[in-house]
Amino acid sequence: MIFEHLALLGRRRSGLRESPSISEVREDVFFVEGPASNWTIVREGNEFILIDSGYPADGFRLMESIRALGLQPRRAAAMLITHAHSDHVGSASHFSRFFGTPILAAPAELPHLAGEEQHRVTVPQVLASAGRGATLPWLVHAVRAGGLKKNDVQGRPWDPELLAALPGGPVAVPTPGHTPGHTSYLLPRARAIATGDAVVTGHPTSGRAGVQLLHPMFHHEPELVRTSLSALAELNATVILPGHGPTAEGPLSALLAPLVS
Ligand SMILES: [Zn+2]
Repeated sequence: MIFEHLALLGRRRSGLRESPSISEVREDVFFVEGPASNWTIVREGNEFILIDSGYPADGFRLMESIRALGLQPRRAAAMLITHAHSDHVGSASHFSRFFGTPILAAPAELPHLAGEEQHRVTVPQVLASAGRGATLPWLVHAVRAGGLKKNDVQGRPWDPELLAALPGGPVAVPTPGHTPGHTSYLLPRARAIATGDAVVTGHPTSGRAGVQLLHPMFHHEPELVRTSLSALAELNATVILPGHGPTAEGPLSALLAPLVS
């Protein structure tokens, strides 16, 4: 374990890194854009939560983003998982094993998180849509960043009381479809919502900007993704923190209207 941690630090000093982009979208709510997926840090004093954690290869960027806010990784109160795809849970195993951080997810997502189930697009499926956007460079990046790594995380199910006591007082909003237990997290005081891959604002396979759904090949149940959007559209939030692409500002109902109707 200690070697794993040192390896992260070593990579951080290797000079190969691109620094993550960090923006404080609301007081103490920090949105971090990694090279190909995003994570959120919600701070309260010396403690914080993470929502997702990028690809496995983003580990040093994740540490850098935490330290840039004056925080210590070992003070992570929890890591909330939107879904267990490798571009979102890349450092979950490390935080669980090295810092004892609780890794919280929907009950239906726990087998995926543990590697007992798999719900991901295959390389041939991606190649079949290779004419779209920057699909091929993205695929190379995804594989090199650890996108094919098998999950091995023992997560715990979130529950409302547990979440309410965490920094930001997050509320779990089940948004199944992308994966069986996909969850969005509402930060009620900040009126911000981390939507994971239930709704995004860009992706290399899309080639266009703006609030949108990922290509259906990425979804476990595409129809259910649309049903989940209706639940999101009713929430009182004024900024989307997506799993891919930049933040989107505006009332959630208005931002999602073109996708829901
Ligand atoms: Zn993703």
